[in-house]
Amino acid sequence: MKITRIETFQVPPRWLFCRVETDEGLVGWGEPVVEGRAEVVRTAVEVLSEYLVGQDPARIQDHWQVMTKGGFYRGGPVLSSAVAGLDQALWDIAGKRHGVPVHTLLGGPVRDAVRVYAWVGGDEPAQLAEHIEAQVEAGFTAVKMNASGRISPLPTAAETAAVVERVSTARDALGWDRDVAIDFHGRFTPAGARRVLERIAPLHPLFAEEPLLPEHTHVLPRLVEASTVPVATGERLYGRAEFLPALQSGIAVAQPDLSHAGGISEVHRIASLADTFGAQLAPHCPLGPISLASSLQVAFSTPNFLIQEQSLGIHYNKDADLLSYVMDPAPFRFTGGQAHRTELPGLGVLVDEEAVRAADASTAAWRNPVWRHPDGGFAEW
Ligand SMILES: [Mg+2]
Repeated sequence: MKITRIETFQVPPRWLFCRVETDEGLVGWGEPVVEGRAEVVRTAVEVLSEYLVGQDPARIQDHWQVMTKGGFYRGGPVLSSAVAGLDQALWDIAGKRHGVPVHTLLGGPVRDAVRVYAWVGGDEPAQLAEHIEAQVEAGFTAVKMNASGRISPLPTAAETAAVVERVSTARDALGWDRDVAIDFHGRFTPAGARRVLERIAPLHPLFAEEPLLPEHTHVLPRLVEASTVPVATGERLYGRAEFLPALQSGIAVAQPDLSHAGGISEVHRIASLADTFGAQLAPHCPLGPISLASSLQVAFSTPNFLIQEQSLGIHYNKDADLLSYVMDPAPFRFTGGQAHRTELPGLGVLVDEEAVRAADASTAAWRNPVWRHPDGGFAEW
């Protein structure tokens, strides 16, 4: 079997899909994207396609080596995301070729259902209790929200109190049997995060996500040691070598993104690395159905898996949502706050190709907001 054609589709709300075609008629889908930089990743996919077209799609491990390392310069979000999407498509083809789901090829299922969480509150958390009640009503047992919107480098007493108030509101709405995860979104300095973590610890968040920016990983050990709140990070780490210092810092939860961190191949390796530190895997996925399907394949076959992010109804999903480009929503029908394992071959997602082709470049590319502090200085979003 040979790869004959690779196409990309830039679709609302902010996703990029790739379609890998073979001479035997089998087609694989992937989702290679950096949110806000979809066109750049699209170009990277086109460059990698020069190598892949004509190759046997079954040689996933070897293609991963060449795509990741064969250009001499390596790493970073653009290249790692381009590789990620193509890797997903190759696994999709491999599963379809053998008539089995990808999790079978990864060693077989270790669970039949995967706990997922829903987003609440948006970028600037508001109307929280109502959002949470709706998600509890929909069956979710865990939600995630941002700790804050724009925040001062050393949060004021009022800003700190507002974070605590939000987490407290969430805890009241959820009760003690459900979970809330708090995404710090890299908006906090080490000192700000440390002060806030201490205050929210009694409210028992499931984890605190990205309490620090990746460039502050060298001070992460002290933050982890200063708090009992489990620390999660990883959506802006692009391979196992970048996870190593975070894991050595003592993070509890590794959050690689299947569309950023080298795809199924590399996230599978990151999960094993995390296991050697007693850390759990909770793949980042505010993205589309192919990225989520890939995440679920890893989740079904990873022992040290905690919980899966998914984007249904997330605040970013304007003009299209998780189910806009799938023929069959069954793999994403969450009951009891869980996604359920199927025997569908490959990634287990049936892409609505007509809808994808129709949506390609139908809206302006999404860009993330640029925030400013009151004095005009740049603020982390
Ligand atoms: Mg996050």
